[in-house]
Amino acid sequence: MRATKALIHLDNFTANIKAVRDHLKTAGSSSPLLCVPVKADGYGHGAVPVARAALKAGANFLAIATVDEGVELRDAGIDSPILLLSQALPSEMETVAEHSLSPFVADKDAAKLIADAAAMTRKGKKLPVHIKIDTGMGRMGCYPNEAAELAACIASFGSLEIAGTATHLAVSDSAVPDDIAYTKKQIEKFNQAVNSIKAAGYNPGIVHAANTGAAIAHSDAWFDMVRPGILLYGYPPGGITPRLLVRPVMEVVTNIVFIKQVKKGDSISYGRTWTAPHDTVVGIIPIGYGDGLPRILSKDFDFTINGIQYPLAGRICMDQCMIDLGADTDVKRWDEVSVFGGAYPAAHNAATIAARIGTIPYEITCNINKRVARVYV
Ligand SMILES: *Cc1c(COP(=O)(O)O)cnc(C)c1O
Repeated sequence: MRATKALIHLDNFTANIKAVRDHLKTAGSSSPLLCVPVKADGYGHGAVPVARAALKAGANFLAIATVDEGVELRDAGIDSPILLLSQALPSEMETVAEHSLSPFVADKDAAKLIADAAAMTRKGKKLPVHIKIDTGMGRMGCYPNEAAELAACIASFGSLEIAGTATHLAVSDSAVPDDIAYTKKQIEKFNQAVNSIKAAGYNPGIVHAANTGAAIAHSDAWFDMVRPGILLYGYPPGGITPRLLVRPVMEVVTNIVFIKQVKKGDSISYGRTWTAPHDTVVGIIPIGYGDGLPRILSKDFDFTINGIQYPLAGRICMDQCMIDLGADTDVKRWDEVSVFGGAYPAAHNAATIAARIGTIPYEITCNINKRVARVYV
């Protein structure tokens, strides 16, 4: 196997789930169900192994974004409820119904399409669907005042069952007072919409709203089920620090595959942006932007070898980059290098990388691509 790989620490994933479940118990006697998002190949960690670990650790639901992601889980023999979070095309509806994926339904047209597909493929067995309400995310969802009518529409189809009612929060991961007020407003609108469904005589099913931000900071958004994603993969979201401890699940590692002596003034890599300030030793590692390591990190990055930080030297190439190991280094050829996500406190993780380049940890783990084998440890 190639040097560069993503170690997926499933023990950390399981421990993170336990930490979140313990945190949810603070709700009192009836802690909410847990839905684990495994979309985008489990945030880059590998959907099937992560889904299996999640269910083993007590998850009640999985969530995916594309129909193909749902089919992958079913083909792997996973038979838990699976929420389909994004809108499928008309041509995909039969696959949704056949594989018992529970789609978010946000309008009557889509309800009719999925109802017809369910009637055709499920031999009388109702397909559970979840009503999706837009309370302020501005993404998929009916407006709160349309929720009761949509419930009536769904209920009118013999092939569908209203299994849940959901919304999604836009700024639940922020500690800014205006954002907290916005989240409270979203929760209030959602409560009103759920009540309107009940008042019209329909059972809203499992009521759910909380992503990671709300699972941490808004217990009034927990309802019957929560859907925290990034927290389970080991990262707090955005601007709030959770009281519970989670650890990164993905650790990207590689090895020093070549070592060279470099003279003062020698340049390293494309563009000659780095020249040796003194005689030194440079190590080469086989990872680059072709693996999903952002090239923009070329400005300033460091790697951890045997617990010690060493700076990147020069630009990140497609398949390789170079490390300044220093003149009297102890580092040897073939030594292991932790790129990010390792247990050393000073080592980079997806959050420190994200902060450095102005993005979020989600994007860092998702972008580690299929050239990097996932190794489950
Ligand atoms: C991705 C997603 C989540 C999980 O969000 P995190 O920020 O990772 O907790 C929850 N609900 C929906 C609808 C999503 O799309």
